Amino acid sequence: MSLVCFPFKEEDVTVVVRNIECAASHPRVAAILCVGYSQGETWHAIENAKARIERATGKEIFLVLQRRIGVTLRGGKGDGMNTALSFFLEKDFPRIHFYDADIVSFSGEWISKAEKQADLDYDVVRHYFPRSSTDAMITWLVTKLGFAMLWPNSTLPFIEQPLGGELLLTRRAAEVLYGDQRVRSQSDWGIDTLYTFVSAQAGLRLAEVYIPEGKVHALYGGLRDLRTMLVECFSAVQSLKKETLPSEDAGGHCIEPARPVPDLIKQKVGYDIEKTLKLIKSNWTPRQQELLHQHFDSALVKGLLNAVEWPCWSFADEDAWTSAYLKFLDHFEKGDDDWEELLFKVWVARVLNHTFKNVMRGYDVALGALRDLVWDTRHQFSLQL
Ligand code: GDP
Repeated sequence: MSLVCFPFKEEDVTVVVRNIECAASHPRVAAILCVGYSQGETWHAIENAKARIERATGKEIFLVLQRRIGVTLRGGKGDGMNTALSFFLEKDFPRIHFYDADIVSFSGEWISKAEKQADLDYDVVRHYFPRSSTDAMITWLVTKLGFAMLWPNSTLPFIEQPLGGELLLTRRAAEVLYGDQRVRSQSDWGIDTLYTFVSAQAGLRLAEVYIPEGKVHALYGGLRDLRTMLVECFSAVQSLKKETLPSEDAGGHCIEPARPVPDLIKQKVGYDIEKTLKLIKSNWTPRQQELLHQHFDSALVKGLLNAVEWPCWSFADEDAWTSAYLKFLDHFEKGDDDWEELLFKVWVARVLNHTFKNVMRGYDVALGALRDLVWDTRHQFSLQL
């Protein structure tokens, strides 16, 4: 019997309470753990619903505040998830599931699918979802691409959604992760990267299950909303760049095949394009221009500086991004606002380029381009090793 954890900040309380109720009603679930960032409105809504759901389902609901486990990085979702791991390791449930609290399409089937794979002795089970072709731009362009450059001979680049917050860990996996200092320090959005990387490095067996209806959750506005996440996810990859993986990294990796993507997901635009167009033009400083000239290829410099006058993005093609990524791996400094803004601007230009070059040609072309980017990069970098 498993523990199900919902880390939460401030979300639509009706959705959160419904999800807790749904998980608590599942026959394989023994208890629910809600880990809050703070005692705000969502916290109080859970507190108010707790006794009723406990009575109705006979399952205990633990409501706890996240602890400060990392020391140096921002206290965010990483502290939340690590608080849950430490709680879990002190109890005797054999498995823990994590689900984002804000998912409108969550159902008991998600729990059943993960449990079935864990029954086959997988240590980690990740859920993956059909995504819109403008969604998951950090996953594709930062995490999967970074994995393909740094560990091209591993299965890391082919983990479908390495930043997904929906996953099951067995006690063994939780012990490996919580026992690792790098994981406990990663208190911010970089936590998913660390869980994924450290699981592969430890040779844990991974299964990925497919959720055909997709993950319906709160949408982003302009890409500005994703700046902190971008910086923290990139920096997490950068912090790992000297790490090695055992050559036979995966103790086993199986992926449930995907199905045709529902039209609603194919047609969705993942971010507000009009708001985003302004982003490369704004917040320039003389030092950003200096850093650009000092470290980056002249075509990228020229393109970005042109974009100050008028929105343009054609310079930010796949090759330009890959080559800029290498420069960022070497020189990027987290916490330095000019470096963070430069990373953000180049990434925004790359996302716009993908949107206008690939997404315009239809869903299948767009997804194909993203998959090819990872596949080709892996090939290119494995020949260089
Ligand atoms: P996204 O799905 O990657 O866009 O991320 P969300 O903003 O939806 O966050 C995923 C889940 O983590 C949601 O349930 C959030 O409420 C929760 N969350 C985000 N930040 C924190 C945090 O700092 N602490 C905790 N405990 N939960 C968080």
